[in-house]
Amino acid sequence: MAEQETQEIVLKGLGVAPGICIGKAYLVDKQGVNVVKKYYVDASDLHKEENRFKSAVAKARQELCTIIQETPRELRQHTAILETHIVLLQDKLLYGRTIDTIQQFRYNAEWALKNVVDELKAMFQNMSEPYFRERGADIVHVSDRIMRNLVGGEPINIKDIDKRVILVARDLSPAETSQIQLERIKGLVTDGGGIASHTGIIARTLEIPAILGLNNATRIIKNDDFIVVDGSAGLLILHPTEQTLIEYEERAVRYERHRALIARESRMPAKTVDGISVQVMGNIELPEEVVAVRDYGGNGIGLYRTEFQYMGRRGFPTENDLFDKYRDVVEVMAPRPVTIRTLDINGDKALPNQPDTDEANPALGLRAIRYCLKKPEIFKTQLRAILRAALYGNVRIMFPMISCCEEVRAAKALLKEAAESMAAQGTEFEYNVDVGIMIEVPSAVAIADMLAAEVDFFSIGTNDLIQYALAIDRGNRYVSHMYRPLHPAIIRMIKTVVDVGHQKGIKVYMCGEMAGDPIYLPVLLGLGLDELSMNPQSIPLVKNAIRKLSIKESRAFMYRIFKEKKESRIESFLKKAYAGVLFDLDLEEDIVV
Ligand code: PEP
Ligand code: MG
Repeated sequence: MAEQETQEIVLKGLGVAPGICIGKAYLVDKQGVNVVKKYYVDASDLHKEENRFKSAVAKARQELCTIIQETPRELRQHTAILETHIVLLQDKLLYGRTIDTIQQFRYNAEWALKNVVDELKAMFQNMSEPYFRERGADIVHVSDRIMRNLVGGEPINIKDIDKRVILVARDLSPAETSQIQLERIKGLVTDGGGIASHTGIIARTLEIPAILGLNNATRIIKNDDFIVVDGSAGLLILHPTEQTLIEYEERAVRYERHRALIARESRMPAKTVDGISVQVMGNIELPEEVVAVRDYGGNGIGLYRTEFQYMGRRGFPTENDLFDKYRDVVEVMAPRPVTIRTLDINGDKALPNQPDTDEANPALGLRAIRYCLKKPEIFKTQLRAILRAALYGNVRIMFPMISCCEEVRAAKALLKEAAESMAAQGTEFEYNVDVGIMIEVPSAVAIADMLAAEVDFFSIGTNDLIQYALAIDRGNRYVSHMYRPLHPAIIRMIKTVVDVGHQKGIKVYMCGEMAGDPIYLPVLLGLGLDELSMNPQSIPLVKNAIRKLSIKESRAFMYRIFKEKKESRIESFLKKAYAGVLFDLDLEEDIVV
């Protein structure tokens, strides 16, 4: 019950997994990991110190292997990340440099490890892409585990928690998150973490409400404090009043009822009330997520981000490594399409083993297709793997960050070379695949007619298109209020791309975050996009919303808002016009009609 003398406190974070839970907080304590002692080791003891570090690493490896073996069935698909952590344990940057630091500076193992990790953390934090910043978090998780073994701390055993609680942690590693037992853990909140973190992905898979990025939740919340977690709105309420509690209990019931209804209908086609079927696809990062797309009723994969296979490993993946992963996804989805996006990394930042450049503005640098064209052998290895996987289903190839026709031609020439090299070797492959590009750079919008002549489809990447068109760094929280999908410039750009694409006879898809939020659906359907691709968990919600809309009305509505100059007016128009249709749940605070 709420206590009279304590005041209700509301904390805002990133709602990464929707839903509401109410219960007692359980603080996850990372013993001894945060306060690290420094001392010097006698030269004669350096070998012993090195061995002490090696034993801590060996123990960490053993722990991770055990966790993988004991991972519950519903989370098996996520053990790949734990395997990546096992590889990271031996990484040259982490393992090798810590040993060097012990030897060179005669530091104790804990201090040497801390120094190395601090450097690596700084390096990853400077990366522009949230995705890669999250991968920096993997290094921290792995080193925390080694550190705990070095200082003789108790391992965190989330699986041993024996009461119904909400986890509150500074950060949770994928290993810890994958020990969650659904019957005990109602939800989770963390100080750190972002939308692309694996903790978020796992929470969504388990369908437990989660808020990350709360900054100081572990400082404010105490064990057994009563809290409400609204994962949909990203709100945590500490010491809720009686009235707040009643309100959230009602919301939780409404949410569950709504979710059950939507889930029951997720396999049904997304047909508008005027009878038009819309293809609703899933975005994936890990091959294992393909199962979620299928289970949520996705019509295919609209974006397979392939960066992950290049991360957390020494050197580049081989053609066979990639082929195996792609084939798994393609086979599970067949005959539905799988759109494999070629490597979208920022060269040196993504692959710390291969430093190439020192870029002041990585988002405008040697990224994505630019990197691949500069590294044709790495690119062709990926292209060969994709063409081989295409034998097993319906594959589309998509090039990211295209800004001019020359890039498309050069990429297609390398695709042809990749095919020719396999033909010469007698390797089997399928060349008859759709080849498309992402439209995420404003110059591509301006020359959409020229680009359309080169490809089979466009897919609009609104995450980057908004960033580049509005000059708003997508990862910068100081300008996040200006990151607006309904900005008239963005609506016009999407309209141009769709109209030009259709005039030239090619399909136009969307795979940025904008496609997965029902609020934008009337605009997107009105604009005439052929396919929408989103995170797997949004698929049932978006399909449900599509069934309530009509293309004809959406078109008329779109023309009305097209004349509007202000984004805020467009948004309130949308909310007014579609209250009761898209927002009948009234779950989000900010939807006031
Ligand atoms: C985009 O930019 O909209 C997109 C889908 O690609 P990513 O988020 O991977 O940059
Ligand atoms: Mg992008």
